[in-house]
Amino acid sequence: MTQPAIPFLDLKAQQARIATELRRRLDGVLAHCQFILGPEVAELEHELATFCGATHCVAVSSGTDAIQIAFMAEGIGRGDAVFLPAFTYTATAEVPLVLGATPVFVDVDPRTFQIDPAHLADRIAAVRAGRKLRPRAVIGVDLFGQAADWPALNDIAAREGLFTLDDCAQSYGATLHGKPLGTVADATIASFFPSKSLGAYGDGGAIFTERDDRDALYRSLRTHGEGTTRYEVLRTGMNGRMDSLQAAVLLAKLTVFRDELEIRERIARTYDQRLGNAVVIPARVPDSTSAWAIYSILLPEGASRDAVQARLKEQGVPTAVYYPRPLHLQPAYREHHDGTPLPVSESLAHRILALPIHPDLSEAQVDHICTSVRAAVG
Ligand SMILES: *Cc1c(COP(=O)(O)O)cnc(C)c1O
Repeated sequence: MTQPAIPFLDLKAQQARIATELRRRLDGVLAHCQFILGPEVAELEHELATFCGATHCVAVSSGTDAIQIAFMAEGIGRGDAVFLPAFTYTATAEVPLVLGATPVFVDVDPRTFQIDPAHLADRIAAVRAGRKLRPRAVIGVDLFGQAADWPALNDIAAREGLFTLDDCAQSYGATLHGKPLGTVADATIASFFPSKSLGAYGDGGAIFTERDDRDALYRSLRTHGEGTTRYEVLRTGMNGRMDSLQAAVLLAKLTVFRDELEIRERIARTYDQRLGNAVVIPARVPDSTSAWAIYSILLPEGASRDAVQARLKEQGVPTAVYYPRPLHLQPAYREHHDGTPLPVSESLAHRILALPIHPDLSEAQVDHICTSVRAAVG
């Protein structure tokens, strides 16, 4: 029997759930016509900061631009080493390079998939011994919705004098030790790309900080380095502003965000229970909750992922691979890598497989996904 295909992400169903609030918010923007940095953007900044307990939030044009603004504020550039996991989305490595800094790739934990603090310490020691680059910053990526090992990362960063950036692009809404992510590093960035845990209908991002001076600096940098008046240019900045329409969409989505996080958690638990003895399920970071942007399993060693994906597709079960190639092996970044093997990242790239996890999956669909995965790997 062929099943109707399950969407990997169902933005249409979600839109129907928030239709009234969404329309009201969008009409508000169409009425005042302040399309960029309008009142919705300021309201969103307040809501996002309150939600995660941060003192300041600066809404920007994307998660990538958020990283760039945070790094420009620290003057990170030529001669600086920026440590980051090899197993992440390309944007994490791209920004240091755009600013003239050098990404130094670190391996990840084989169970949680998060940056490995022990390997980070090794990589910092190697850079110091090489005397060519100055260790300057570490980007802890909260991968797939879960928190990186922030206590360990912060210990190392404090000892080494590194700036810490929490790349929370996939994990806004997650908690660590009972507190939402947003204040655990020197700066935290979020992305509102449509497929993230909180997604706009276009690009968007945010930067969170506890420092008043950084809040002011981020606001200046996002608008071409402007001063107190629009045509006073104090520094080299960029166009990193957020659209009011995106803020309006995000404000509408925030009304259901907590509920959505709970539903995703329920689905993750079902996957854990039903799949745990057939595949490797993602290990939970201790004392944390996940935003479950992505639920990735590891297929048995030696299994053909292509074959499993094809069998699942026949059953109407879509899958995705984050990430088929670690960053240090990408054509664009290979030349910036010192050749150190990163065996965990390389192995994950071959075995990992993401299943649908979104709040509009029905119980019957989740059941069908579990049955199909068990059959496909069996
Ligand atoms: C999505 C993502 C980004 C970039 O966010 P954009 O809003 O797409 O620019 C950065 N880092 C990670 C880990 C991401 O997943």
